[in-house]
Amino acid sequence: MILVQIAFVLTIVLGFVILSVRAQQVNQPEANNKQTVTAEKVQAMSREDIQRALQKIESSNPPPQKMGAMCYDMVGPPDTFEYVCPVDGEKTVYSRKSKAFEQATELQGLRGLIEKLRPLAKGILVSLDERKLCAKCSPALLDTERYVTLVLQYPDGRIVRTDQVTPEDLRYLIGFFADGLSYKTFFDGQEPLKPVEGRLKQLLGEN
Ligand SMILES: [Zn+2]
Repeated sequence: MILVQIAFVLTIVLGFVILSVRAQQVNQPEANNKQTVTAEKVQAMSREDIQRALQKIESSNPPPQKMGAMCYDMVGPPDTFEYVCPVDGEKTVYSRKSKAFEQATELQGLRGLIEKLRPLAKGILVSLDERKLCAKCSPALLDTERYVTLVLQYPDGRIVRTDQVTPEDLRYLIGFFADGLSYKTFFDGQEPLKPVEGRLKQLLGEN
């Protein structure tokens, strides 16, 4: 019980340290405040809307962080992961040594986040390309070439692919389309999008 209390206090102290560091980083004056983009407008999904929403992240003061609850069981990953291809049912086994192990074990989480993202990103087709994880779909790949790719397909036909997409990446996108200025963390906390704007631009194909 004492250990739990110590861990709790440490978490709070760490939180304040991060907050104060962030506060220094983002201590910029609020520029163009007239240009307001609401979440409703972002959902219209023209390229201009997306660029305007990105501009808003840059010009707004970031919303405050909220610490999430860190209540979870520390269960380590298994030694092997069996990937089942949704196209052909082929099973591909990844050991912990494999570079693709993390991507394969994250897949369930990635798929769930894609389902959350899909209705928010109106007009944009959002999907995961998992073919490189399947030994039958992609037989001649090196271990380092096996990963999951995020695919965004815009109404104007542009396709933006991001290899080795992470759950965090998808959380940024969900936050971008749902809130505009912040995103929800794994622990259900809230973080501003401003510090990750560069990555967000990459994911949206706007860099
Ligand atoms: Zn396959």
